[in-house]
Amino acid sequence: MTDTYDIAIIGAGPGGYVAAIRASQLGMKAALVEKDQVGGTCLNRGCVPTKALLRSAEAWSLAQSAAEYGVQLTGATVDWAQIQKRKEQVVSRLRKGVESLLKKNQVTLVQGTATLLSPASLRVQKADGATETLSARHILIASGARAKTLLGVTIDEERVLSSTGALELDHIPASLVVIGAGAVGVEFACLFQTLGSKVTLLEALPQVLPAEDAEVAEELAKSLKRQRIRVEVGARVEKVETDEQGVRVAFTTAAGKAETVAAEKLLMAVGRGPATDGLGLEAAGVKTDRGFIPVNGHMQTNVPSIYAIGDCVPTLQLAHVASAEGIVAVEHMAGLNPRPLNYDHMPRAVYSRPEVASVGLTEAQAREKGHAVRTAKFPFMACSKAVILGEREGFVKLVVSEAYDALLGVQIIGPGATELIGEAVLALRQEFTAEEFSRAVRPHPTLSEAVMEAAHAAAGMPIHY
Ligand code: NAD
Repeated sequence: MTDTYDIAIIGAGPGGYVAAIRASQLGMKAALVEKDQVGGTCLNRGCVPTKALLRSAEAWSLAQSAAEYGVQLTGATVDWAQIQKRKEQVVSRLRKGVESLLKKNQVTLVQGTATLLSPASLRVQKADGATETLSARHILIASGARAKTLLGVTIDEERVLSSTGALELDHIPASLVVIGAGAVGVEFACLFQTLGSKVTLLEALPQVLPAEDAEVAEELAKSLKRQRIRVEVGARVEKVETDEQGVRVAFTTAAGKAETVAAEKLLMAVGRGPATDGLGLEAAGVKTDRGFIPVNGHMQTNVPSIYAIGDCVPTLQLAHVASAEGIVAVEHMAGLNPRPLNYDHMPRAVYSRPEVASVGLTEAQAREKGHAVRTAKFPFMACSKAVILGEREGFVKLVVSEAYDALLGVQIIGPGATELIGEAVLALRQEFTAEEFSRAVRPHPTLSEAVMEAAHAAAGMPIHY
């Protein structure tokens, strides 16, 4: 039997489920096909569980320094089983929320693995062996990504972990080597170092978080080292060996010295590749480029009835980007002619300690693009709220065009960075000048004052620094 829909969506992650809800809001009959649980990587194995674990690490950290705040604690210990239990509760609560939203919006959830049959139909293979064919005027592929590894190194989730395995560990490893200092690498390095592991972080490029501003990366590296994480940038991994004891990673340092580090576990955090194999893309005539599905500004593939969004298309691999792409795709299908996304205005947020967040161009990118720019910085140590919180590391940096005083980019490292970046997103989107950004008065005492002060600094006149 064939069921007919206005839209069939493959993958119920933050791209797919958001698209399904918007489709239903626009009066489309929507089917959402998922082989696992709703919420995708983000909710089940990514953003949400990691941040839940990091919240526990933060609680432990605060407990350790409680005496400084005048709170005497004795016998405080880390209870990993309870940390994991709380993580599961957070995930399950949010997953139930998504499930009920899908019901409320009358989205048909089809459990199984989808394969495209044509530009307007797909087959779903169920766990019990049954199959179902769906036909749809539009198909949206939101199949996500999976962890990459290095040539010759197998992720066994025992000794060599992906982020999925690292989230499920039944104990805190005594020692951990992390290969790759992108978002995944630095977040897990901070998490396990805080909870007592001895962590080594190896990064091939010359800075941690290579996509971020160089000064921000330097500040983060300094802080990671203060936390006693061994950080090696410019490191070339030569060999990975596993045995009963754990792993041994041979690498060459930036200075050309051969070294070996042994650890109980290895986390592979060298990026994620598109999960597009086995989707039947050839059968439907959808072109790919190194596994990614190229799309136009409305997220349409080379086959006009088939759209693709999220980690399987060659744009930023971030949950909020996937959701925004899903909305654009569905609105375009509905004939609404939405504006394509401006990827220069997409925020990035890394939940390291301290946090890092940014939007727009870094100083180097702005100069590369030929802008004459000036930069302004305001340190959190000069912000009352940061001092009150006891979190004085980091700064807010603005990249401003010399000619028009236009805000081109905002980078934040420090307390609340991932929340504060929201106001910078609005400012860039509304094309604020640095002066306009400085005249919007923020409440005192808050961390947002540091953002305002950075804008005053762009005119050479910060008040508190
Ligand atoms: P990434 O691409 O951001 O970082 C991978 C890092 O590994 C890079 O710094 C790269 O230079 C390094 N690397 C690659 N090969 C290496 C080698 N042989 N030796 C040493 N280092 C090597 O990927 P990721 O951190 O795995 O994250 C995957 C995706 O998920 C990214 O797009 C990321 O932005 C996203 N993500 C985002 C968040 C967040 O927003 N907070 C959290 C986790 C993941």
